Amino acid sequence: MKMLLHICCGVCAVALIKKFRSAGHEVTGYFTNPNIHPYQEFKKRMRAVEVLAEQDKIKVHYEKEYGLKDFLRAVVFKENERCSICYEIRLQKTAEFAKKHRFDAFTSTLTISPQQDQALIKSIGTEVAKKEGIEFIYEDATDLYAESKESAKKRSLYRQQYCGCIYSEYERYQNKG
Ligand code: SF4
Repeated sequence: MKMLLHICCGVCAVALIKKFRSAGHEVTGYFTNPNIHPYQEFKKRMRAVEVLAEQDKIKVHYEKEYGLKDFLRAVVFKENERCSICYEIRLQKTAEFAKKHRFDAFTSTLTISPQQDQALIKSIGTEVAKKEGIEFIYEDATDLYAESKESAKKRSLYRQQYCGCIYSEYERYQNKG
């Protein structure tokens, strides 16, 4: 299967690229993450994916524009529902890209993270897929997360300390003084 893999960061991508390739899929990456703030952090995570792409010889398409303004406009006054909006923005963009470029299906590295709401990702991805008329591959891959992190460490890939948005950065560090 010709599969488009939405990639949020190097850490989450390592084990999933291996998993899908071992299953015989032709995997192409897609970096679209307007939820990563601030700008220097966005660049660091994109760079980590570039390094990984080079190491694994995988083609990756990058949305290089920093999407801070649009992201904040989408979640303002709805901060408590922001993760649902954030998943939808990224899965929608991935589905559109996959459809436009004639992939058979799309999926996301979000499916590997135990910190993310897997039920919500499955439900939003399925809805987006139905709307766009392209298959969404969902498999809960959280059991591969530790391996992926370890692998990223061995490869010296940048490993982020918070989910991505400025809200998550605040939640991560608010009690650290
Ligand atoms: S916490 Fe993570 S998933 Fe939720 S909105 Fe922020 S970046 Fe997106």
